[in-house]
Amino acid sequence: MEAQKVLQALYTFYDEFTTNLPVACGLGCATCCSVNVSVTSLEVRFLRQHPALAKQPLQDAITAAQDRPYFSPSFTTNELAKACLNRRQPPEEIGIHASGQCPFLGKDGLCQVYANRPFSCRAMLSTCRCTQDGEAVMAPFIYTVNLAMYQMIEHLDKKGTSGNMLDFWAEKSSPLPNRAIPGFLVPPEEKSRFRGIKTALRKFPVNSGSLEDFFPADIFR
Ligand code: SF4
Repeated sequence: MEAQKVLQALYTFYDEFTTNLPVACGLGCATCCSVNVSVTSLEVRFLRQHPALAKQPLQDAITAAQDRPYFSPSFTTNELAKACLNRRQPPEEIGIHASGQCPFLGKDGLCQVYANRPFSCRAMLSTCRCTQDGEAVMAPFIYTVNLAMYQMIEHLDKKGTSGNMLDFWAEKSSPLPNRAIPGFLVPPEEKSRFRGIKTALRKFPVNSGSLEDFFPADIFR
C-alpha cells in the first residue's frame, strides 16, 4: 500500500503542477481516450480499486476491447532513458497504435474511472482543441516533466511490469519488466528550468516524509 500512497503523491504533484497551465482540454473532451493506454502494474492495482469496475457493462466493454487491436509498448520509459543517457541507440518501437475508444470512456464522453486513471491519461494536456485543430499540441517542457513522472512511476514499481492497460485486464503476463530510474532525461536547454521541478519533487510530502525517501538521491542533484 505504501507504493500506492507514493503514486498518489506523484499524481497530486502533477495536478498541482498543471493547475495553472494554459490547457484547452476540458470536460467531455476525450479524443485521446483510445485503446492505446500504457500503464505500470502498480497503476493497474490502483485503477482496479475504482468502484465503477464492479459494474457489469464496464466489464463487458473491457472484454470487447480486448478482442480488437491495440498498441503494446516494446520498451519501458526507463529502458529508453538508460540507452539515451549512455549514448546508445534507443530501442525500436514496433508496436502500432490502433483505432478504438478506451473501454472506460462512458457514453457521455466522461471517464468512468477518472479518480484512479493512470498517468498516461493525466499527461495528455493540449494547448489547442484537437477536435478543432486536428491534433494535440504540447509545450516541450510539459513533455520533459511528463517523461520524469513516467520514469518515477516505473521506478516505484521496479519489481513490476509495464504494458497496455488491456493486457493487464486480461491478466496476460506483460513481457516488459520495469527498470530502476537511471537519471532524468532532460534536454540541455531545459536543465535550468527543470531544476525547480526536481527540488519541488524532492520535497513533496508523502506520509511523514517526502518523495526523496523513495528514490535514489542522485536523481535530484
Ligand atoms: S482511463 Fe479514462 S481518461 Fe484514460 S483513456 Fe480511458 S476513458 Fe480516457
